[in-house]
Amino acid sequence: MEKASELYSGKAKSVYASEDPDRLVLLFRDDTSAFDGEKTAKLARKGMVNNRFNAFIMQTLESAGVPTHFEALLSDNESLVKRLDMLPIECVVRNITAGSICRRLGVAEGMELEVPTFELFLKNDALHDPMINDYHIRAFGWATDEEVVRMKELTFAVNDVLKRLFADAGLLLVDYKLEFGRFEGRIVLGDEFTPDGCRLWDAGTRKKLDKDRFRQGLGDVVEAYEEVATRLGVRLD
Ligand code: ADP
Ligand code: UDP
Repeated sequence: MEKASELYSGKAKSVYASEDPDRLVLLFRDDTSAFDGEKTAKLARKGMVNNRFNAFIMQTLESAGVPTHFEALLSDNESLVKRLDMLPIECVVRNITAGSICRRLGVAEGMELEVPTFELFLKNDALHDPMINDYHIRAFGWATDEEVVRMKELTFAVNDVLKRLFADAGLLLVDYKLEFGRFEGRIVLGDEFTPDGCRLWDAGTRKKLDKDRFRQGLGDVVEAYEEVATRLGVRLD
């Protein structure tokens, strides 16, 4: 499948039209960014690692009954996906405290939560992705009540599948962000699931193996992503 015109270039991926109007090509670039685009860098191999990692996770989720946009790996850096009408909403689940919840609630990093939390953010870099709730979504018409219920249900279903998958590889799934869109009238998981959009710690040492290595200047960013991929059995050439 040939990719045609570029439709959108985001901070880490570019989106192209394909021969099929209902399918897109996602190109995973080596670019990385943090703090809503304030800190950026190019990290060799990251695009390839994330493309293959994402394909593995999306296929795992699809097999577990979570509808995803993923269709096929096209090359090292490209995947074919369903063209979704994306909702401007980020769904975040946390199992362990880290990142913004520590700043917002003044809690220490690394607390195991009694039950996972579910949070909603508006996808808007200029506003630094403000936290919202289901009333804002309803009031501004960003999604219907049924869609919010479905996104929440799917986001927790992802937690059940991936917590176990990562635990079997000696990893803690600390938190993650998901984006959904509409396809033929139903809610489908879009975007990506990679160490760029989740936190993963080694279960024994709690070493960070995700994008916090970039955010916090810890080094060996792509090496950490590759370690996670290797532990899961993701093929990287
Ligand atoms: P950002 O836009 O946050 O900088 P990326 O660099 O990852 O992020 O860009 C990818 C863009 O593609 C995002 O805006 C995302 O919402 C969008 N996207 C991801 N999957 C799909 C899809 N299946 N259909 C349409 N758009 C998608
Ligand atoms: N996240 C993301 N994109 C965003 C915001 C958050 O992928 O625009 C992910 C982030 O990597 C982490 C989870 O969502 O795994 C929770 O992020 P948090 O709210 O703690 O914000 P952060 O401090 O990471 O900016």
